Amino acid sequence: MLKIKIICCAVLAVCLAVTASPYQTFKMDKKNYVPFDNTTTVTVDCPDPAAVQWLAAHFAEWYGKNAPKVVAGGSQLAATEAGAINCVPPGEEAYTASTDASGAKIAARTLAGVRWAAYTLRQLVIAKRGTFKTEGWIIPALTISDRPHLAFRAVHLCWFPEVRPQQIERAIRLAALLKFNYAIIEPWGMYKSEKHPWWCWPQANMTKAEVRRLVAIGRDLGITLIPQINCYGHATSARGRSLKHSALDLHPEYEPLFEPDGWSSGWNWCLSNPETQRVLRELIAEMHENFGNPPYFHIGCDEADRQTCPDCVKTPNSELVLRHITGLAEFVRSRGARAMMWHDMLLDKKDPRWKGFTVCGDAEAPSILERLPKDIVICDWQYGDHTAKGGVRCTWPTMTYFKEQGFAVAGCPWMNDTSMKPMADHLVKIGGFGFIATTWHHLYGKDWQKMYMGAGHAAWGSPVSHGVSFQRSLRLVGHDMKVTDYLDTGYLNNQIPPAWWSN
Ligand SMILES: [Zn+2]
Repeated sequence: MLKIKIICCAVLAVCLAVTASPYQTFKMDKKNYVPFDNTTTVTVDCPDPAAVQWLAAHFAEWYGKNAPKVVAGGSQLAATEAGAINCVPPGEEAYTASTDASGAKIAARTLAGVRWAAYTLRQLVIAKRGTFKTEGWIIPALTISDRPHLAFRAVHLCWFPEVRPQQIERAIRLAALLKFNYAIIEPWGMYKSEKHPWWCWPQANMTKAEVRRLVAIGRDLGITLIPQINCYGHATSARGRSLKHSALDLHPEYEPLFEPDGWSSGWNWCLSNPETQRVLRELIAEMHENFGNPPYFHIGCDEADRQTCPDCVKTPNSELVLRHITGLAEFVRSRGARAMMWHDMLLDKKDPRWKGFTVCGDAEAPSILERLPKDIVICDWQYGDHTAKGGVRCTWPTMTYFKEQGFAVAGCPWMNDTSMKPMADHLVKIGGFGFIATTWHHLYGKDWQKMYMGAGHAAWGSPVSHGVSFQRSLRLVGHDMKVTDYLDTGYLNNQIPPAWWSN
């Protein structure tokens, strides 16, 4: 009898998912599926009249002839009783949603909130059972009240020559589905500049038309694309270990724009050459415009070397660097946006306060930081496992320091997923700016899953998956793109190395 009771309790626990955090209250009964198809009415309570239209259009895209009907109505926003499940929590992006046999309800203050609600429902909708082909849709009865932990939640995506454009689109669409609202795109020699065609590999496919297409997709889905140019170090636009240089290998005539020595030849831009500032401003202007003039532009600036050319060494290194970054930040500001930059060259690596944390600057670094324009967003990347023994670390001293110096600071994890939630919690505690999940050359396989799921959870303060697998979310993205190629499914291009069967 006891055994039966235990089994019953276990079954009930599986069917009835309940989560509660300061940011999310979620109750779902998987024993009670209700229709979510053309017999269903979804009532939307949102001051933005575009919300009903957006939902109707996307339900039609996702569910075809079986799409639920969308109507405006309800008064859930007026019901502000604390703790009530149908109250929209504080914040522009907060939402509530509920489903039962009488239909579905969504309430939010903005279209952004309505989108996040729609994505939550979409993750949980499955095909109606018992037929050969889909003839309708069902969803568990649920109620959810949800709001993000941090307002700025980004993924950082690298457009390598080896990454297919379809993969970038999948990564952007999946980021939106998992409720990130920004994607920083770093071109790695793949941006096809019209003004400076030498500044990319010959096979560059990040064209003006492709960028505009992706920006439009992002805008519709609620994710803003931010361009990046490495304006100081990493000027090779190639991984250091490859010894490639996207400009100099094929266009030696541009040698004066880059430093002759360093981590690898041409690693830094030449900061004393006025042509460097001109070229970078022209590239920034072109990319910023192509990206639809977003509110931010990332100027890179990580892992640089000291300047070495005969002209650069005539000026103290910190003065050159400060003048260069300040000039670019002012130019970005003149375009109505804010510059973002990596943090590591702004702190002294010998300072004991940063022991155990990533910092790359020398003794001159603090003099750069103290004179840097305060509107620059500092992107502090920390990839160590900062989970303390027996618990999680609650302090991230570099982030606190930047905040104390008057800067907006974003925390940037990579594959250190156990550190993501404590990092986001720390950022909220210090009034930090946001969270940027960097992905680099690991945007595939289990690493991709770990980075997206962990960072989404951290940035929202509670799970964005609602018990749904990464695979299912990824497949929905593929459906939206109408993929037909084997390579555009799953999270690996191939199941086994193709060469195994070629000889
Ligand atoms: Zn130089």
